[in-house]
Amino acid sequence: MKSSAFSLNKRALKIWWELSPKLILIIIAHTFFLSIKPLVPLFFTARLITSIAGGGGIGEARTWVIILVFASSAVNLISALITRAYMAEFNLIFHRLEKLYSDKFLDMDFQSVDSASTQHLKYQIAQNQNYAGYGLITSLEVTISFTQAIFTIIGSIALSIRLFTSPIPTGGGQLVFFNSLAFALIFLGILVGLTIISPILKTKAMSYWAAEAEGAKFGNRLFGFFGFNLARELDRATDMRIYGQEGIALHKFGADHTFGLKGKLAKLTKGRIGILAGLGHGLTSLLMGIVFLYVGAKAWAGAFGVGEVTQYVGALMALSEGVSLLIRALGEMKNNASFIETTFEFLDIENKMYQGSLTVEKRADRKYEIEVKNLSFKYPETEDWVLRNVSMKFEIGERLAIVGANGSGKTTLIKLLCRLYDPTEGEILLNGIDIRKYDYKEYMSIYSVVFQDFKLFSLPLGENIGSSSTYNGERVNQVLEEVGLELDDKYTKGLDTYLYKDLDEKGIEVSGGEAQKIAIARALYDDAPFLILDEPTASLDPIAEAEIYQHLNKIVGDKTAVFISHRLSSCRFADRIVVFDKGNVKEVGSHDDLVKDEDSKYYELWHSQAQYYV
Ligand code: ADP
Repeated sequence: MKSSAFSLNKRALKIWWELSPKLILIIIAHTFFLSIKPLVPLFFTARLITSIAGGGGIGEARTWVIILVFASSAVNLISALITRAYMAEFNLIFHRLEKLYSDKFLDMDFQSVDSASTQHLKYQIAQNQNYAGYGLITSLEVTISFTQAIFTIIGSIALSIRLFTSPIPTGGGQLVFFNSLAFALIFLGILVGLTIISPILKTKAMSYWAAEAEGAKFGNRLFGFFGFNLARELDRATDMRIYGQEGIALHKFGADHTFGLKGKLAKLTKGRIGILAGLGHGLTSLLMGIVFLYVGAKAWAGAFGVGEVTQYVGALMALSEGVSLLIRALGEMKNNASFIETTFEFLDIENKMYQGSLTVEKRADRKYEIEVKNLSFKYPETEDWVLRNVSMKFEIGERLAIVGANGSGKTTLIKLLCRLYDPTEGEILLNGIDIRKYDYKEYMSIYSVVFQDFKLFSLPLGENIGSSSTYNGERVNQVLEEVGLELDDKYTKGLDTYLYKDLDEKGIEVSGGEAQKIAIARALYDDAPFLILDEPTASLDPIAEAEIYQHLNKIVGDKTAVFISHRLSSCRFADRIVVFDKGNVKEVGSHDDLVKDEDSKYYELWHSQAQYYV
């Protein structure tokens, strides 16, 4: 056993303790009672039998029966109550883990969330957990087994110690050699040996299973797709019937991937896993036989009475189970080590974003100035410059359009403005101070952004726009009017109408255009001094698009508005246009100036899209 498996489990246990101290305390109580539950009746039954066999009379026997019944019932009752509390706590562990992982994601800088390695770790953790609970769940289960084993071992030693210390009387015939220390040690040696080998074989069998985790990914996906989805998805039901597609699924299950009928696990189960597990169980039976023989022989030779026979046999079997459980727990701890390492690798991802502490001055006149200075940027782990030496200023109250072909770096500039990434070179200043020096939440409070790939919640319309379960209905209606979203008959409950059907079967489906209007309304409700719309009208039809732009001046009010688009429809409403080309600012000017210059990029773009606007 590597010591690192111990320390990994120790750390996992610390995490569980932080997630729920109650869970750990209940586990200790639960395993304690689980361990002593069989030992209590064992002890009192032995007393009862001894009393009857020794001719103690009906009165004494009755007393032992009462004690036996009372003690066993009390232990069972307490154990049942604790088990109930334990089950209630245990049922929450998946939620607790989900929360742990979600909190971690929320804690990370965006760059780490967005990185392929983080996403890979996320899938790996889920995959290991789905496979056999490997990771934090197994750590907890190992701990449960471990404590139960320790309690069982202590209890059973207490009940069996006198088996060894009670000598066979000297008149006991040939069996007096049982009294020698050497013989007792040999018996104990065989006992411990068999007890240890059996779970080692079973753990070895499990390790083959663990070793297939990587290869089992494909099989798990097959299960997920064919097993859970295929026959149940309504939109596949017609195809399934017409083409008899279940045959494909059956064929895939019969194939030779890890889980397939001809696959590696099937072969291992028939071969090594099966043999090792069978041997393990065989040895357990052999052990029982030897225990019976030893205890029976000592009783027969007169070392103790018939009552103790049940106690010692029961206690030794419990001891063997305890040791076996302990060894399996240690084996599982070892099997689990690499999986738990993956979990820690994820939990140890650092938040690398520099956090300043400056507050942003709250100005009634909204006079904030943003300046981008010699900004260059490469995405992490990539070689190409996505932005190169970009310099520009946002003037207060203006409507600025940033246009350029797809991939020219427009969205990237917005991500940098929002500090989702920090510049590779150069800087961005707010009122003359590097934005990294501001407290991030404070800094972000000056922006409302509608990203291209925004998401709405399956919650009521009003809550979506207010970004909260409580909101100002009047203001929500006002911003809805500003973006031109009419609440027609479909919105049966007005602002309380659920979007989508995930949480309410009466929820409504909204079109791409409606969703975009809702997202813009959400940004307006936020009422930040800078409004940034990234491709705000991409999902709208030309009429709806024209409508939005017609209202734009009114919508934007005194805010500074930045429109990003590869379509030039926004430009006619902009005071100033910045043309991006391959990560550079190519041209800056008004529509009228730029469109006159036949050599300009703007001229080229405008004329290639002119049919939409003329
Ligand atoms: P635009 O908004 O003008 O369409 P983007 O800013 O989205 O352009 O993209 C600029 C360039 O950066 C593109 O070449 C794109 O492939 C690349 N890019 C965008 N996001 C990432 C990312 N997360 N990692 C690596 N490259 C990216």
